Amino acid sequence: MLTTLIYRSLVNPELQQASIHQLVQDALCKNNANHVTGILLFDGAEFFQVLEGEEAVINALFSRIRADLRHNSVVLLMQDYSAYRRFHDTGMRLFDAGSRTVESILAEIRNLSHFRGCYLQDERIFRLASTFLAQRGLHAVPPEFNASRWRREGREHFTLSQWPDLIVEKPCQFALQPIVEALTGKVSSWEALIRSPSGESPARMFESVPADRLYHFDLETKAHAFALGNRMLKNNEKLSVNLLPGVLSSIPGAVDTLVKQIGAAGLRPEQIIIEVTETEAITDQDAFYQALKALRIAGTGLAIDDFGSGYSGLALLARFQPDKIKIDMALIEGIHLSGVKQAIVRSIARCCEELGITVVAEGVETMEEWCWLESIGIHLFQGYFFSRPILNDVGNIQWPVRI
Ligand code: C2E
Ligand code: MN
Ligand code: MN
Repeated sequence: MLTTLIYRSLVNPELQQASIHQLVQDALCKNNANHVTGILLFDGAEFFQVLEGEEAVINALFSRIRADLRHNSVVLLMQDYSAYRRFHDTGMRLFDAGSRTVESILAEIRNLSHFRGCYLQDERIFRLASTFLAQRGLHAVPPEFNASRWRREGREHFTLSQWPDLIVEKPCQFALQPIVEALTGKVSSWEALIRSPSGESPARMFESVPADRLYHFDLETKAHAFALGNRMLKNNEKLSVNLLPGVLSSIPGAVDTLVKQIGAAGLRPEQIIIEVTETEAITDQDAFYQALKALRIAGTGLAIDDFGSGYSGLALLARFQPDKIKIDMALIEGIHLSGVKQAIVRSIARCCEELGITVVAEGVETMEEWCWLESIGIHLFQGYFFSRPILNDVGNIQWPVRI
């Protein structure tokens, strides 16, 4: 199957001019041998390459490029399939983007054989090249957020294990995971994640609840999360809890119940953030939005969870604007390697900034992901990189520190 893959990368700054030249020549030569065609734009510091060829050949080649220490920050911009090669009689064409004008390069690409058709696919390749040339010099993550300049340092938060009464005879338990402001070393909030009495996942917990009790169960169990919050919240920290949207739209008085639970636990509504998960379609929209209004009036914080996955990301945001948006971890995983995820997350962050909404990146697992996110101005994170959820407790949090 014929595939087209486009990436950009930065030349390793330690590489000498002669070695860079050698790298480019080797690549052109190998591509010819493997029947890989395309274009290579290079300005002495940044590469933009269109590779077309058999899928297995291109994938193997791209893996080698990713692993090649002469390339830094290899970011995949596109992988698509097509019925024909655009560059089949021009091989791998090299353009010197450092000395030529953008217009002349783009005009030449346009005029290459097999690229003159009116296929929309061609247009996309052309636009990617044109965007790359327009943004030359802006792709590098600022040096201060180079992952190699940071290490992690664990700091003990505190432990709740002196309160064994938290875990006896409950229909469920909760694990706690911090949402952190990485650069200031502050915990912004703690998310209470439900667990079965024996500590199993939310899915296992909910499986054991009869379907017609699910919403009531979800609501009732929040009382235990608030009790936990009462023990552990410090200073301005907040507690986040999750609710199925159906709890709010189908249980009359659900918000009153929540407010009573919060008060009974000795907490104030401002200390609580309600996270609405988007895992199910919201069937009774009007009742749902009425409940959200009631939550605003009661004074709790509101977050859209798993933003960008599930049913109603943008539609939900268009209708109501929460205090916080938590970007789904599927968009965060490997973000430093994916031009597609970078474009999406950057625009979510920009949109939230314009709307005054706080952004949290969920599921951060690596230093590289954190560095990339921090470099575009996201400051709140949740993920194994900082701390895993801990049953009825909080433990060490790993903080990034400069080397
Ligand atoms: P969520 O609200 O998006 O919570 C984050 C989930 O991601 C948690 O899974 C957490 O353990 C996991 N996670 C956090 N950081 C990382 C990471 O770096 N990598 C990976 N791979 N995973 C990470 P958990 O505890 O299994 O919860 C799953 C989902 O169950 C939650 O997703 C939430 O939607 C739901 N849930 C949890 N507690 C409740 C609850 O009380 N009520 C309702 N309705 N749903 C709940
Ligand atoms: Mn959540
Ligand atoms: Mn989530």
